[in-house]
Amino acid sequence: MSRFWSDHLARLTPYVPGEQPADSGLLKLNTNEHPYGPSPLALEAIRAATDERLRLYPDPESTALSQAIAAQNGVSIRQVLVGNGSDEILAHVFNGLFLREKRPLLMPDISYGFYPTYCRLFDVPFEWVPLAQDFRIRVADYLAPRPIAPAGIILANPNAPTGLALGLDDIAAIAAGNPDTAVVIDEAYVDFGAQSAVSLLAAHPNLVVLQTLSKSRALAGLRVGFAIASPDIIAGLVRVKNSFNSYPLDRLAQAGALASINDTAYFEQTRRAVIDARTRLSADLAALGFEVLPSQANFVFARHKVRPGKYLAAALREQKILVRHFDAPRIADYLRITVGTPDECARLIAALSAIINSAS
Ligand SMILES: *Cc1c(COP(=O)(O)O)cnc(C)c1O
Repeated sequence: MSRFWSDHLARLTPYVPGEQPADSGLLKLNTNEHPYGPSPLALEAIRAATDERLRLYPDPESTALSQAIAAQNGVSIRQVLVGNGSDEILAHVFNGLFLREKRPLLMPDISYGFYPTYCRLFDVPFEWVPLAQDFRIRVADYLAPRPIAPAGIILANPNAPTGLALGLDDIAAIAAGNPDTAVVIDEAYVDFGAQSAVSLLAAHPNLVVLQTLSKSRALAGLRVGFAIASPDIIAGLVRVKNSFNSYPLDRLAQAGALASINDTAYFEQTRRAVIDARTRLSADLAALGFEVLPSQANFVFARHKVRPGKYLAAALREQKILVRHFDAPRIADYLRITVGTPDECARLIAALSAIINSAS
């Protein structure tokens, strides 16, 4: 606390991201980064954009990149907004769509930790909707009549940290059942096995789809995310963006992201490699006595039948392997493990096997 702080700062609970260690000898399976690098064409485009043009401000609308995203998704450019990571777009969504008098935002009790953080920052009232015992989203919970319509519903699909995905029929039902509510689908992990709700946008103008280049495009360090929604929702988000930072993407990010979006072959090859490694990792964990949720993401969420999650995470850290453990209700027994290369997964399994078999 400082006497110079704004009044609301004491109320904030800042998001705590997974560790980014300086020690490069650590195996990072804790923040869902892609184990393979970005498209070589993206790196080439960033190098080619690195010249004296950096004295100029970048295109404030990231037109070429937005156009490529629109074309790839079969929507108009007026339905696309790019931002400095999807976390920034999320901030614009909270600010621009969810501040509706006292109407609450609904979200699962187990989901991405940034959602309640933004609620506190923007003073959005929210209600946690408990997931079922098996961590599935119960669609009926989002259709039940309420005294006041929610201001918004936000769902990560696949959900984090569970990795479980919702089908498009379920998303359509939630959107149709809440026609006066913005329904935001955070598709950070969609490319690893779920279906995108972009195809539902024409029929459901209250849907907002968020995607990022951080996970499936291996560009977490470049900070690029985007929203796809109806033109009037995007126009609202653009108003927020231009009231906050009119140049969210620098020149290098625009160049690299555009080349990455256009390199479909590399994208398909590397995402397939992660999906295949996930299948193997899930089976190997099960063989060690883990219960592994069926993941559609680039991580698995697993609980050992004997060893607590916190213990395993600490023991792995001693072996220089980082995984994510959440000391939170319902999930404290679990580990969230990012899918690495086959070699990295093998190193993890060997370490876990030694820990589990040696401990008394
Ligand atoms: C990683 C992640 C994000 C943030 O992505 P950035 O584009 O890197 O800001 C958003 N939502 C979920 C669920 C994520 O896991």
